[in-house]
Amino acid sequence: MSFGKWLSLMVGLAVATLVAVMQWTSPTWVSNGPVSGHVAAVAITSGGIGVASGLLHWMAMSRFDTELLRVIGYVESLGRSAVGVPRYEPRFGLAELTATVERTVAGLRHRAEQLVTQRRELDIQLRLADAERQHAEAILNSISDSVIVTDAFNEIALTNEAAARALGFDRDAAARRPVDQVIHDNTLIKLIKDTREGGDPALRRHVEHVVGHNGRQVVYDVSLASIGPSNERPGTQPHNHETAGVVAILRDITREKEIAENKTEFVSNVSHELRTPLSSIKAYMEMLIDGEARDDQTRSEFYNIIQGETNRLQRLIDNILNISRIESGVVKVQREYISLAQVVTEVVDVMKPQARAKQIELVEVPSPLVFQVFADKDMIAQAVLNLIGNAVKYTPAEGRITVSIEHDERHRQVRIKVADTGVGIAPEHLPHVFEKFYRVHDHKKIAKGTGLGLALVRQIIETVHGGRIEVSSEVGKGSVFSFTLPLAENRV
Ligand code: ADP
Repeated sequence: MSFGKWLSLMVGLAVATLVAVMQWTSPTWVSNGPVSGHVAAVAITSGGIGVASGLLHWMAMSRFDTELLRVIGYVESLGRSAVGVPRYEPRFGLAELTATVERTVAGLRHRAEQLVTQRRELDIQLRLADAERQHAEAILNSISDSVIVTDAFNEIALTNEAAARALGFDRDAAARRPVDQVIHDNTLIKLIKDTREGGDPALRRHVEHVVGHNGRQVVYDVSLASIGPSNERPGTQPHNHETAGVVAILRDITREKEIAENKTEFVSNVSHELRTPLSSIKAYMEMLIDGEARDDQTRSEFYNIIQGETNRLQRLIDNILNISRIESGVVKVQREYISLAQVVTEVVDVMKPQARAKQIELVEVPSPLVFQVFADKDMIAQAVLNLIGNAVKYTPAEGRITVSIEHDERHRQVRIKVADTGVGIAPEHLPHVFEKFYRVHDHKKIAKGTGLGLALVRQIIETVHGGRIEVSSEVGKGSVFSFTLPLAENRV
């Protein structure tokens, strides 16, 4: 019961009680005293009215309270559920209040539904964005080039595994950290900074940059572009010097550069090597045409020189073609089971006259076993021929060349050795003798050559047959060139 109800009930009761008490205790005082009978009647009546009104008010308020409780219950069930709540028509002027609450609840419910829908959409968008980010990361990681993307604050926004490997940083720890705290390559940091400050997204710069990586120099083509502000629409002019970041892509061009350099070197070497015999042929031809060779002996000398130079030219062209065929993989390899000893004997026989002419002893150490390899006979013969040919060329008269075949049962391979007692090769030249066009400078006056013979042997043995070629040498004492070949499974 509310305070108002209690108050009116109490006042009524108090007045009635007061008058009754006064009459009982002093009826004369009431009839004779300062309070007349009328006044007492009025007091009793008003007391009665007070009691009655208090009672009435109390009853009304009780019903109002009950109604209010119903309304509260109704509003609570509205709050719990929108459906299945029977409409309630309250009394005592509570209808307007209930209607207002109903409208507010409906409004709030609508807003809540909107928020739930929005939240669901945001969830979907978030999941999509996450999937897209993972997809983009997977794409980035599958790229072999190093990618670094920075944001407007010069912090790392995106990188890939290749970049982390090439520049030696932890990819997971790099995100959202300043570039210069992640990358320790000052040139690259400056390139990114300059691109950001340059700020023209239309411009893409390419810079060649060398990075030391695991003890080797890697040459990168660094492509740099700044990204325009993200709110910029395509086709609109960028605000001056305003960028949302920089994309740097580092492409390893070390091998390309090497190939390009090798090509240039190869072309210049080939032209040089071709020019020498050609000019010689041309000069002797001109002398013959001009009748400068007056006697038969001189003419025959000139013809011999021309023939020798022509042969050299042919060897040179054959070697170049063979090497480039093997290198480009277009060479036809005719593999068959061949007896190595037989191939070696045939080549030794071919070379014997040349060795004899130089008074060099060419010896083939007989092999107790017949070794069979599965290989291209002509190519192996060519390799053995080049090795014995070099031994003859770089061994002075009275020298000795020994050709032998050794069996390496443990590795299931066979080793062919060509040892000479020639001029030998200084240690600093040894790692280079198998390179194309490499010739030991001091040997150029000892014998003519192209610098392609050993390069071809290496291609034949290592690239085509999966064997291995080696050399050991001592200046003034001689050299040993040897190569291994895998043994064929069945030995005859
Ligand atoms: P070349 O046509 O000049 O002989 P090669 O490729 O066959 O070219 O050999 C490369 C270089 O290796 C030669 O120029 C020579 O200096 C050196 N060389 C090769 N074989 C021998 C050898 N048996 N003794 C000493 N030096 C050799």
